[in-house]
Amino acid sequence: MTQVAEYKADTDLSQYRVKGEIPVPTLIGWLTLAAVPLIVFFAYRSSLRGDPTAPVFLVVFAGLLAINGVAYLISHNSTLQRRGFITVITALFTYLAIQAVEDGSAIIWLFAYPPVVFYISQSRVGVIACSGGLVGVAMLFSPIGDQLFDTPYTASFRLTMLVVFAFEISTCYVLDQSRRRSKLGLLKLAQEFEYAAKHDTLTGLANRREVLAQLENEYQRYLRNSRTFSVLLMDIDLFKSVNDKHGHHIGDEMIKLVASTLREQCRKVDTLARWGGEEYLVLLPETNTEEAVKTANRIREAVSRKSVNADGQDVAATISVGAATIRNAESVDRLLQRADEGLYRAKTLGRNTVCDFEGTFTD
Ligand code: GH3
Ligand code: MG
Ligand code: MG
Repeated sequence: MTQVAEYKADTDLSQYRVKGEIPVPTLIGWLTLAAVPLIVFFAYRSSLRGDPTAPVFLVVFAGLLAINGVAYLISHNSTLQRRGFITVITALFTYLAIQAVEDGSAIIWLFAYPPVVFYISQSRVGVIACSGGLVGVAMLFSPIGDQLFDTPYTASFRLTMLVVFAFEISTCYVLDQSRRRSKLGLLKLAQEFEYAAKHDTLTGLANRREVLAQLENEYQRYLRNSRTFSVLLMDIDLFKSVNDKHGHHIGDEMIKLVASTLREQCRKVDTLARWGGEEYLVLLPETNTEEAVKTANRIREAVSRKSVNADGQDVAATISVGAATIRNAESVDRLLQRADEGLYRAKTLGRNTVCDFEGTFTD
């Protein structure tokens, strides 16, 4: 089974978009919609207080966030949107901290940074951005920061702010890890369910439902591009006597042996399925009758050379095969019916044989 793909950010909902439907804003979309008016509001407040620079900077940040949002609406590039958003809010929070906007209280907005960054980006980006933020705040609160910027933060505020910020970052990291683990667990479970729904437990081959779906795909390709295909319906000969003589578990071993022989003898593009109890269906894309019969005989001979060990005794098996190649405008059901008729003929002609419903093809 394939491994679960590397966890991606949760923000890209574009895959769920239906043509003509009003798009659901992504999480970053919602954050942008909330942040732009908020920043404009604080810009307005700063202008009322006679601050000469803060309104301009804040409006620029609001504008950049809005442009980032509009760029996403046009390009649907969620990676660009995420990177743009993180860059702008990082610059915004740095500005709020350094300039001590709103009498220094705006630095509190830094607490919004870790949860947002951890949620919208990969864990590594979250760790780097938040550690950078923590170091930045520590530098700002250090004597070097005091020399560079004239900030009003008191000593006790600095200490509390640093400790609480570090605490918040660690908590966000732990919660984020747990969230990602749960999500990966769910994805893995979904994959396992999907695998179980498509495969036979005993042999690991495709099950009947899956091969029927593959047959339908192949049939559509045939209708569209006239790409021919064949099916082989196989049945283990006198299998009931194997069960009766050696027990059900040896019968199961034989079913697995035929399945592994199919895997050995067929191409990767072929679909190998357990059709029922001791019956198999093989779908051979782009294969005409002649090639299908050749393949069937190769499988038949390979099976006849093998055996299952039952308490020191070798139990051999043979299979009978009905082959059919799609023709004209016949349906999949009719194709399968012809393969079944071929199998029936093979059984009546003495087994260990390949037939289509018109002739016999044993070498
Ligand atoms: P034929 O050559 O005409 O096909 O004879 P057969 O004995 O193989 O045919 P029949 O259909 O009479 O017997 C098939 C047997 O396969 C009957 C059933 O008990 C057995 N069977 C079906 N599924 C399984 C399975 O999963 N494991 C085992 N061990 N036996 C199974
Ligand atoms: Mg049978
Ligand atoms: Mg049988």
